[in-house]
Amino acid sequence: MRLRNVTGSREVIAQSPYVVQEPQRQKGKWHTLFGNDYPIRIEIGMGKGRFIMDLAGMNPDINYVGIEKYSSVLLRGIQKMETEPLPNLYFIRMDAEEITSVFGRAEVDRIYLNFSDPWPKDRHAKRRLPSREFLRRYDEILIPDGRIEFKTDNHDLFQFALEELEPAGWHLEQMTEDLHHNAEMMRGNVMTEYEERFSSMGNPIYKYIISR
Ligand code: SAM
Repeated sequence: MRLRNVTGSREVIAQSPYVVQEPQRQKGKWHTLFGNDYPIRIEIGMGKGRFIMDLAGMNPDINYVGIEKYSSVLLRGIQKMETEPLPNLYFIRMDAEEITSVFGRAEVDRIYLNFSDPWPKDRHAKRRLPSREFLRRYDEILIPDGRIEFKTDNHDLFQFALEELEPAGWHLEQMTEDLHHNAEMMRGNVMTEYEERFSSMGNPIYKYIISR
């Protein structure tokens, strides 16, 4: 998802109270920022933010941080927060490659990856958010029994993500190749913008939940 050149998006982000400016300064201090000890869950590549905003609205006793690389996309989430602010949600505009400089060891309770960019060329495999390089970063910031939940409609990306687990020391907890016809894994499912679009086209949605 890339909405190019939305005029003024960088300026809006720089002044928004919903965006954590200089997030590296919060490393190890996120609970202080939220003002409570509730678990912290993050979505990497949140897009326009529907998923994480719905979760934050449904779970006031969980803290959420939505991470998005592009200002023009994040802007949509900020606009929604301006009409319906949520006290348990902050946004960060950053590339997730820097995630370990923003969250301390075991500071995060769960990570959501939804419809991550596939980066189909082999030489770009390291950029895929479920790659072993990213799993190593997630390992640093997640609590010991923390989980990662990954959804996609991209068969090749899902196969790649499964193959990355063993070399990176992660285990499958649950997995489906057709989430929307799996009653158990579908329970409590919160749809993302991409999930809505692709499932309405009849594409199966793949999902795994993993732990170390
Ligand atoms: N998660 C949303 C959904 O399911 O509707 C958006 C999916 S969209 C295909 C992927 C999003 O991830 C894009 O908005 C993209 O900018 C963001 N993204 C990709 N790589 C990223 C990275 N390294 N760090 C932060 N965001 C990233």
